[in-house]
Amino acid sequence: MFYFAYFPMSKASLAARFEHIFGRLPVLVTRAPGRIEFIGNHTDYNGGTVLGASIDRGVTVAVAPRADGVRNFHSTYTSETVMLPAGEPVRQAGAAAWTNYPLGVLAALPHFGLRVPEGFDFLADSDLPTGAGLSSSAAIELASALAFLGLTGQAPDRETVVKIGKHAENQFVGVPCGILDQGVSGFGEAGRLVFIDCAGPRFTTVPMPAGASFWIFNTHTKHALVDGLYAARHRECMAAAAALGVKCLVELSPDALRAAEAKVEPAAFKRARHVVEEIARVGACVKALEAGDLGAVGGLLTASHRSSQHLFENSTPELDFLVDMLAAAPGVYGARLTGGGFGGAVMALAGAGFGASEAEAVAAAYAAKYGARPDVLPMGVGPGATVL
Ligand code: ADP
Ligand code: MG
Repeated sequence: MFYFAYFPMSKASLAARFEHIFGRLPVLVTRAPGRIEFIGNHTDYNGGTVLGASIDRGVTVAVAPRADGVRNFHSTYTSETVMLPAGEPVRQAGAAAWTNYPLGVLAALPHFGLRVPEGFDFLADSDLPTGAGLSSSAAIELASALAFLGLTGQAPDRETVVKIGKHAENQFVGVPCGILDQGVSGFGEAGRLVFIDCAGPRFTTVPMPAGASFWIFNTHTKHALVDGLYAARHRECMAAAAALGVKCLVELSPDALRAAEAKVEPAAFKRARHVVEEIARVGACVKALEAGDLGAVGGLLTASHRSSQHLFENSTPELDFLVDMLAAAPGVYGARLTGGGFGGAVMALAGAGFGASEAEAVAAAYAAKYGARPDVLPMGVGPGATVL
């Protein structure tokens, strides 16, 4: 079981911890946030758009170079140092498997024409729970990338740093994630959401109106067949696009899709309708955010969930229960499943009227029905990946 610190170590206490472990101070400290999929569900591989929030929780990395060609990796999650030789990174298993994230970054650097540091000491600390749908993996990748680039005196643009993280996760760790996780961690800004046009990819930010915060309810449920279900949804979307005569579903407006309903199987039509209408909801959400209309934003979030529930069918009774409770709770603007679905977490966007006791009432009702308490994590929007 990982140790989970709820509070991030300050730069000074991380440096002190580094000194305790490695006998000297770090030369560089970096930090990258986790992220929430705000709206834009299964839109990425359909060439669509998505909005993400960089959260005020993340992974901090401290590094110092070593002259002897040894690479030492230490995480406050595991409290054991993994000692590896410099040179071509080799995939690790068992207790050292977490080092595949920084190792994947090292392996990615040459693909972007960048130099790789030889020996170093590396310490990671985090206030992000892992596997909670908040992308601690992208956070450790981007914090590692900035640390290794700093060690070698290189400063590529932000988009390259994002792509290095994605390359590490896709190619070295072997997880076929889209651009959302690293894009939001890399392009996040305090008080703003990250808008990604996945076809480019192209990254911009939109303002997050003041007075709202996020609440994550992590059910720790995961459908046994989740990987197969993702793959099936991916296939259904591609088949629907082919039957409708387009390369990607993003090319269809909701009206054009409705007019072509007879061309596709009913099930494929439901999947396509979710994607096409979700892309329209992302666009509407950008406008509502720019207008500061949190009520309209919340309505779009809950509509996204209902579409997952009834059209894309990537929700579960547990997630629906939480959304039903939250949507009816005072102070909540809207709620939806966040991430791929088939279990995982629900996000609520809430104002000052919703606090710890209201969240506790929802968690208690869930526990009474399902026999297990969800983790409840309040959070705000924080800055993107940076050298501290
Ligand atoms: P998520 O990205 O949703 O949190 P993943 O399974 O994609 O879940 O990534 C979680 C993994 O990332 C962990 O199991 C661990 O290997 C690695 N990781 C994340 N943060 C840290 C950290 N601070 N120290 C060590 N490993 C970490
Ligand atoms: Mg991940």
